[in-house]
Amino acid sequence: VSKMRSISTLLQSKALVNGSWIEASSKDTFAVCNPANGEVIGKVPNMGVEDAQLAINAAKQAYESKEWRSLTAKDRSNLLKKWHKLIEANTQEIAEIMTAESGKPINESKGEVLYGNAFVEWFAEEARRIYGEVVPSGTANREVIVMKQPIGVAALITPWNFPLAMITRKAGAALAAGCTVVVKPSEDTPLTALAVAKLAEDAGIPKGVINVITTNKAAPIGALFCQSPDVRGISFTGSTQVGKLLFRDSAQGIKRVCLELGGNAPFIVFDSANVEKAVDGAMASKFRNCGQTCVSANRFFVQEGVYDKFVTLLKQRVEALKIGDGKSCDVQIGPLINQMQFDKVSGFVEDARTKKANIIVGGKGLSDLGSLFYAPTIVTDVPATAQLYTEEVFGPVVSIIKFKDEAEAVHKANDTQRGLAGYFYSENLQQVFRVAKRLEVGMVGVNEGIISAPEAPFGGVKESGVGREGSHHGIDDYVDIKYICMGNL
Ligand code: ADP
Repeated sequence: VSKMRSISTLLQSKALVNGSWIEASSKDTFAVCNPANGEVIGKVPNMGVEDAQLAINAAKQAYESKEWRSLTAKDRSNLLKKWHKLIEANTQEIAEIMTAESGKPINESKGEVLYGNAFVEWFAEEARRIYGEVVPSGTANREVIVMKQPIGVAALITPWNFPLAMITRKAGAALAAGCTVVVKPSEDTPLTALAVAKLAEDAGIPKGVINVITTNKAAPIGALFCQSPDVRGISFTGSTQVGKLLFRDSAQGIKRVCLELGGNAPFIVFDSANVEKAVDGAMASKFRNCGQTCVSANRFFVQEGVYDKFVTLLKQRVEALKIGDGKSCDVQIGPLINQMQFDKVSGFVEDARTKKANIIVGGKGLSDLGSLFYAPTIVTDVPATAQLYTEEVFGPVVSIIKFKDEAEAVHKANDTQRGLAGYFYSENLQQVFRVAKRLEVGMVGVNEGIISAPEAPFGGVKESGVGREGSHHGIDDYVDIKYICMGNL
């Protein structure tokens, strides 16, 4: 099945429910636009709760069907491997669709296909290692057996910033565990989701195992997922605000919930750091996907002794960034995803300006390029009251704060209700261990600005979420532990 598809056969205008490509029952559609130029790339069904219910029914039926339930772990692994091969063979085509709908520079889109597909491969491997236990019993003539079983239907709600990887990181784990899924991709990036679903179909993944419903009215569908007794788990990546809503609403049915929410990542550069490496890490962490990742460094704390050097080097690098339509290979910074994000980023910078921060590069929209382009920006002396400090900017803005000693840096880094990623640069071994242990985050980058990998557990503490994705822990949200007591042996 190593056949490649052309973009035209990967670009779908219908959604996938129970193995059929269908319209919304209302026949309603919505347009998907290129944020670089506003052009309409395609239209997809604007589905409602009736359509979502059909998808849940299909996933339930598929879950209970012989075609899925009777498969061995090895069979499921093989299907995931086929899917992986097809995504790999179509990297360029998927990346072009992704760049068109998300604005992500093409090289990064290709990188995301590679990264996202690595989860399919990883979970194809993990599928065969979902082990149980035989525990020494405390009672004679008894055996304590523990097995892991799939939870059933999982609803997956994903954001626009990683249109492929956020789906494969969830669906890979769910399918490996033996679950079936209903995917609700972001309204900004449904085309990548539909393209990978098409390839799942080509790979021979049975009908109803992966369903994708597209809509620009997410709230009622999210509510249905929370209410439906047939949905056993909800995995969500997106804003903290929506995550809280889903967490609350899914209490009704005591569902398994995995939430990957916003961060407010500190990036600390100590006097002991290799400053050149810190600047490389800062560029990678901050400007990937135009700063629109939940693990992007959000607040840079730089110690007095290296402050001037760090700011000078960083400024040179920021001024050299190439900005434009992501489809050109040399572009490093594309547009922001939509007007709401643009307004948020420019609003935060204006807020900092009025609070007496210094904008040393950028600080404005680049309307010559298009309405959603924002200049890569560095803001120094950011006060703790600025939105740039308290909230996640999700844009190409570096906010820098000077500090005196380690205790101050750690205190400020932890002074937030978010706790997803944190980064620091230090060449002092004792300091590395002290700080790594004290940062209140789920993931720490030590002398490294890009840390996500399929082998590593991704997730946050505090209000950044619950559960972990990727790694062998990524399976946990999709399995129930069953204890079987064998008595009177
Ligand atoms: P972002 O800031 O990344 O757009 P959102 O949380 O708004 O964050 O969006 C992430 C995903 O959640 C998208 O697929 C979006 O459609 C979906 N979403 C938005 N509001 C709701 C809601 N009330 N219930 C369920 N899903 C929602």
